[in-house]
Amino acid sequence: MVLLLLVVLLPQQILIATSRGQASVSVTNETGTAAVAAVLLAHPLGLTVSLDGATARVTLNDRVFEFDVGSPFFRYDGAAYPLVGAPYIARDTLFLPLHWLADHVPRLLPSRYRWNPLLARLDERPAPAAAAAAGVPTTNPITGLRLAHTIVVDPGHGGIDPGNPGLTLPRGVTEKDITLGIGKLLRAELVRRGLNVVLTRATDTLIDLASRPLFCRADCDLFVSIHVNAMPAGRRQTQVNGVETYFVSDAKTEDQKRVAQMENDALRFSPAGSGGPLGFILNDLQLNEYLRESARLAELVQGKVAAIHPGEDRGVQQGPFLVLAAARRPSILVETGFATNQKDGAFLGSTEGQRKIALAIADGIVAYLLEFERKIAGTGGGQAR
Ligand SMILES: [Zn+2]
Repeated sequence: MVLLLLVVLLPQQILIATSRGQASVSVTNETGTAAVAAVLLAHPLGLTVSLDGATARVTLNDRVFEFDVGSPFFRYDGAAYPLVGAPYIARDTLFLPLHWLADHVPRLLPSRYRWNPLLARLDERPAPAAAAAAGVPTTNPITGLRLAHTIVVDPGHGGIDPGNPGLTLPRGVTEKDITLGIGKLLRAELVRRGLNVVLTRATDTLIDLASRPLFCRADCDLFVSIHVNAMPAGRRQTQVNGVETYFVSDAKTEDQKRVAQMENDALRFSPAGSGGPLGFILNDLQLNEYLRESARLAELVQGKVAAIHPGEDRGVQQGPFLVLAAARRPSILVETGFATNQKDGAFLGSTEGQRKIALAIADGIVAYLLEFERKIAGTGGGQAR
């Protein structure tokens, strides 16, 4: 039913409006994902394409977007972004997912492009005058933040890796569904507050563990991974409940080791050799700065989520999480509750519970960024990271 609705809503044509004129471009849906032929975009948008093996370099407005044919992501400015479908070649023509043009391009080049979903229309605006582009910071009326920030939100697991099945989640639901639900709600809330957000996955697909931190590169301030906890079989299995937030470090307690082992276990779904020993990555971290910042972010997020959570406040924890170690930004992992506890499971499985968790994580992130901006203003710095 939902699928049918989506197909009906997909535009057959999109309109591209520029100061040089307008053009209609047809959308194909032959692989189940809306796509547009790059050659058709070349005319109105002045886009150029060069193919080198399976790699397609698409230049738009002097910006280079790099695609791998058959892979549902693209690279831009040193970071990777997910796509709902993969670029493909048919009849000697490169087809790019409409998602890239309608969603990512307006978000990455907001001063140049705006997408109107109701009219299926992409507007190109004239290049801003040099003075306006000078980048004088203005205060965001919702958050009070003065700088632009990008948050990478990482819904744990996905695709063939269901995460923990738990005992108390609604029928057919596993950890990967909860993390995706919270991740999307978190994205919506952060975007509403004027922050830029990149999701490592927006659908039920598996992104291997080693690739997730690659989403957090040049244009990324924070990395937030979302997970659901579980207790192993035993006397305490159904009793233990509540929320805890991790930052990367050596595990100090048995419980911390258990959670890190559980989340790192997704490594078995990664291609052989792509992981690399965790110790190596940990040694290589600029530990001091990231540790301190990550610990503070963890503290603020934990405080906000614990305040709305039906379970216990299990506090800030540390563990050797592969997914956090490689991000090279302040990064945390939120274990949003126990799928082995009745009350936690019901909360996590409900839309209202997921929404409350997402809003609380957003509150913690904004509190951290406000503090961070005050700190760099105090030291005379002024550069967004
Ligand atoms: Zn997990």
